Amino acid sequence: MVGLDNGGTSNNATVLDATGRYLVDHLVENPSLVTDGPVAAVEQLAEAFHGILTMTSTPLTLVRAVGLDTPGPATADGVISSKGSTNFSQKAWWGFDIRGALEARIGLPVIYNNDANAAALYAHHQYFGTDATHRGSVSAIVGTGLGGGVVEAGRVVGGAAGMAGELGHVQIPLQGVLEPDQPVPLCNCGFEGDVESIASLTGIKKNLLPYWLAKFPDHPLAAEPIEKAAKLLRGYGEKDDPLALAVFGQQAKAIGKLFTIAANFTDPHAYFLGGGVVEAQPHFRQWFLTTVREHTQLRQEQAAVAQFALVADLDMAGARGAAVAALDAVKSTPDVPR
Ligand SMILES: [Zn+2]
Repeated sequence: MVGLDNGGTSNNATVLDATGRYLVDHLVENPSLVTDGPVAAVEQLAEAFHGILTMTSTPLTLVRAVGLDTPGPATADGVISSKGSTNFSQKAWWGFDIRGALEARIGLPVIYNNDANAAALYAHHQYFGTDATHRGSVSAIVGTGLGGGVVEAGRVVGGAAGMAGELGHVQIPLQGVLEPDQPVPLCNCGFEGDVESIASLTGIKKNLLPYWLAKFPDHPLAAEPIEKAAKLLRGYGEKDDPLALAVFGQQAKAIGKLFTIAANFTDPHAYFLGGGVVEAQPHFRQWFLTTVREHTQLRQEQAAVAQFALVADLDMAGARGAAVAALDAVKSTPDVPR
């Protein structure tokens, strides 16, 4: 199985053998050229595919299927949104079937997931190992936006239109998250008070930081442009700066509210947290995870069994999760129609 993770600047590739072992333990990247349009980008994916086979001495004849993930929004079978997206803004991308194009180019079945779903799938399988097919999980990955994924019985819940697990746009109760005089945050999607409007870099920049900087007018970040200030904030959080802890505390509470909703939907065995915060210093990421857990309201029976964990190897999670999905497709359908 080959896993290909397509991103805004790079593709990352991996190989997963039939026993569930990854043949690559580090990032193997090539330029994704997505801004050059679909033809160039599919060619780069094909190059990543053949490159990883060469690097791992894997014969082409042994490859049964290829897993592909890209940033969303896209349909369940890999057609990029007809409205385009941040990564696929060129008109040639709108409504482009990237899964089908890669399948035609390399002549092997290609199984598609969006990047957050692929990362969620990897987190699930990495954490549960051989128990993965008997477990459910929910992942929230905090980045520019808030990506997510719902896994049930070891498989991603895709939904009718491929839009299940869009956890960033779940609206949450704001009581106990916002200060009494704090404006209701707005999301780029048009919703008010959804998870991404708070728990994302965009939410920090647009909503949380402007409010909190007004409360701390002498803070050094008040002198920085907001874009830069938002990126520097984590460093302050690691030093227990009160402004930064106020902002990240609100993010953790928002994710706790989201997980409370998840507890009443799929009652998962595990709640995974990923993104920039995982790369932070250990004491800070542990504080963040603990704060999330404190604000996730579980019933006693759920609290007794639920696990909270950070998503490991996030930079490789997309490619690895895509490969897991391909392996699962091969196992469940011997002739792999898709
Ligand atoms: Zn939203």
